[in-house]
Amino acid sequence: MLIRLDTSRVLIELERHSPKTVLIVAPDGLLKMAYELASTLEARNVEVVVSGEACYGACDLKEDAAEAIKADMILHIGHGLRESRAGKKTCFIVAEDDVEFNKVIEKAVQSLKQFSKIGLYTITQHLHKLSEVKAFFEKYGFKVETNDGGKLSYGQIIGCEFQPAYSVKDDVDAFVFLGQSRFHAVALMLSTGKPTYMLDPYLEEVIDVSPLAEDYWRRSLLAVYKARDAEKFGVIIGLREGQMKLHHVKRIREGLAKHGKSSILIAMRDISAERLNTFTWFDAFIQTACPRISIDGAGFNKPVLSTPQAYALLNLLEGKDIENFLRTPTWI
Ligand code: SF4
Repeated sequence: MLIRLDTSRVLIELERHSPKTVLIVAPDGLLKMAYELASTLEARNVEVVVSGEACYGACDLKEDAAEAIKADMILHIGHGLRESRAGKKTCFIVAEDDVEFNKVIEKAVQSLKQFSKIGLYTITQHLHKLSEVKAFFEKYGFKVETNDGGKLSYGQIIGCEFQPAYSVKDDVDAFVFLGQSRFHAVALMLSTGKPTYMLDPYLEEVIDVSPLAEDYWRRSLLAVYKARDAEKFGVIIGLREGQMKLHHVKRIREGLAKHGKSSILIAMRDISAERLNTFTWFDAFIQTACPRISIDGAGFNKPVLSTPQAYALLNLLEGKDIENFLRTPTWI
């Protein structure tokens, strides 16, 4: 496996903006690449600061850090959206994974033979493989649907947004997810309600994620039911720029108050069991930042609901049906 950084794009951005100082932001797995890029830029007399903080997604821009250190530009590597720029200073730089899908597709054809129409989706690092894989499935007689939507590119999903797939869910029998992220494949299934198969190109495995999705769904639902009995809620505002959803915070607090539940706001950047254990006086938490923190499970010993779970709780308190509360195009 080789990850290729779009260095030509980096050079274009440097030419265009002539920055004196650049902040490089990268997920942990690409920090070595950030270091190499830093050396290249410094050879061009650009001062470079590599962000040492965790970065989990395209939501995590770190524009506030760039402001603090007076960086003129942010090169955010490894994540991306349809628009290649975000915030005031961020430029997304694609990191393409050159792993091949040919072998795992050959296997998938067998597993998928009961379906005739499939939706094909993936995450940023495999997007460049999409048209090749689509043509491959079409050669085997499948009708293949992909789409763009919201802020996402053609064929793209991220861990909290699925609009491109959600928009074609009624036109397909099943979804195929390209990559090795069980969470993304499960989330695709929970959002669309369609059978979903993960094609792992590294292990050359085809995985029907239905049992796993059922497990995630039950745990998410259980947390909502546990939170029903809570009286005191900590409602968390996410401090990462793309995770700050104040409109949800307001609506959720109003909904809680209507049912006699008290709530206090907490602002946090990193939401972990260790940090939340400090707030011993709350019965439950609602975090409006990254839904994955709640749905993927992080060893919390009290209910910690994501935004869709919080709205499910409010519906539950209203006596409404909460079946399929994750079946929405976005969870944030
Ligand atoms: S909010 Fe969470 S799932 Fe969504 S992009 Fe950010 S890190 Fe990923």
